[in-house]
Amino acid sequence: MALDYYQVIPHEIALLGGNFTYGRDSKSGLVRHHTAGVLNAQQLNKVWSPNGGRQASTNYLANALGKISQHVWDDNTAWANANTWANRNLLSLEHSNNDGPPDWPISDETIIGGARWGAALANFYKWGKPAFNVNIFDHRKFTTTSCPHHLHAYDGRYNDEWFEEATWFYDQLQHKLVDAQGNPIKMNFPAPTPAPKKERIFMYLTEAEEREILTTVRELKNAFLAPVPSLVPGSTFEAPRTTMIDLLDRKVEELHQEYHGKPSAAQVECDAHAKVDAEHKLEDEEHHDA
Ligand SMILES: [Zn+2]
Repeated sequence: MALDYYQVIPHEIALLGGNFTYGRDSKSGLVRHHTAGVLNAQQLNKVWSPNGGRQASTNYLANALGKISQHVWDDNTAWANANTWANRNLLSLEHSNNDGPPDWPISDETIIGGARWGAALANFYKWGKPAFNVNIFDHRKFTTTSCPHHLHAYDGRYNDEWFEEATWFYDQLQHKLVDAQGNPIKMNFPAPTPAPKKERIFMYLTEAEEREILTTVRELKNAFLAPVPSLVPGSTFEAPRTTMIDLLDRKVEELHQEYHGKPSAAQVECDAHAKVDAEHKLEDEEHHDA
């Protein structure tokens, strides 16, 4: 299995096989835990075994080497928070300790591995940049527990390191500066300098001019689209001017057929006027001569 931060495919799939509920309400964020034990994926599954182990589960574990394993699919509800709402809406991430009591320390590898996984989930599920009580929560918010102990946001000594790594790695993923395994992508050529943007003002109008345009557009729209009565005397036909214009084509064709090979009434009238004009002109010339 190849780790893929972009597709949130962890180092290892080690399903618990029980101690979870099918389905969930949402994937709205992540709850941080520490295991209160030095546990890898197999050890966790043994301690939290559905066959007689602790009645608990988690979606993910970051082991003491920082490797991520999946124990309950993201689509299902892990029993992680002793709080139904948190279980059904938030994914859970356990961080293994690398030593026991009284200090329960956590290794740098686990902090980095866990923080990067939180960043990968935030990137994949579009939660935005990892931020406390926005998309990253601590177990003790939801029940009476010290968990996640040294990771806790208010007094945990690992918290700053965790968030520093998570926010940095989130940006790396957002800008695709790392490959799927989180290695920096090396550029063998200088990044192209973007061409300077020319400011382009399409319209810079006064309020009066804007109103004038709006009014004109409305008037034009009405002129073309509002129904108007036919100008033919006696007709009760009403239609938008656009329809009237379309009908012209048919009318012209009708005229072509009606007057095929003979002058139209209008043409006869025009010809008659022309004849009268010509006669008057002759008369005028005659008067001139006289
Ligand atoms: Zn916890």
